[in-house]
Amino acid sequence: MSGKNFVRGVVVETVFLDRDGVINRKLAEGEYVSSWERFELLPGVVEAVARLNGAGLRVVVVTNQRGVALGRYRAADVEEIHARFQALLAERGARVDAFYYCPHDRRQCGCRKPLTGMFEQARAEFAAIAAETSVMVGDSLSDIEFGRAAGMRTIFVSGDAAHRKPGWERGAELADAVTDDLPAAVALILD
Ligand SMILES: [Mg+2]
Ligand SMILES: [Zn+2]
Repeated sequence: MSGKNFVRGVVVETVFLDRDGVINRKLAEGEYVSSWERFELLPGVVEAVARLNGAGLRVVVVTNQRGVALGRYRAADVEEIHARFQALLAERGARVDAFYYCPHDRRQCGCRKPLTGMFEQARAEFAAIAAETSVMVGDSLSDIEFGRAAGMRTIFVSGDAAHRKPGWERGAELADAVTDDLPAAVALILD
């Protein structure tokens, strides 16, 4: 599928990344990435993050972690996964600038994607973040709706056909571009 003149004349400064299905392998619906042992990095992700870092772009992870509200794991487990991922990136000269997660259940907060609370949190922490220079990369309809609601450009990552969430076709349709995976999304942004 095409990039639809995705970044023609546009300076991208910040890339927002969904986590499960973009950075690490998404588990079957109803299964949760509850510990580091269940966090399986997808191919080329470290290199893709390093490319964004090298190009001077800000990298922000935004992830819904409803499993916390459901009692499947704790907020501390989410934070440990993020700390260990960050340590792994650091060993290879890459980094994520910030992680945000929503630990809430549906309709109980302003931060569960597709609501834009995590974009607002990022903007509060990094004054330079602007929707016009930001891109959201995700593998769910809620990611694309989040990006659009915040005013960002969006890239839908098709990923693993077996693990797509219901409504993904609409996500692919609404997105500014569709790629197979994160490395291809980064190539689209940078090349
Ligand atoms: Mg996802
Ligand atoms: Zn929330």
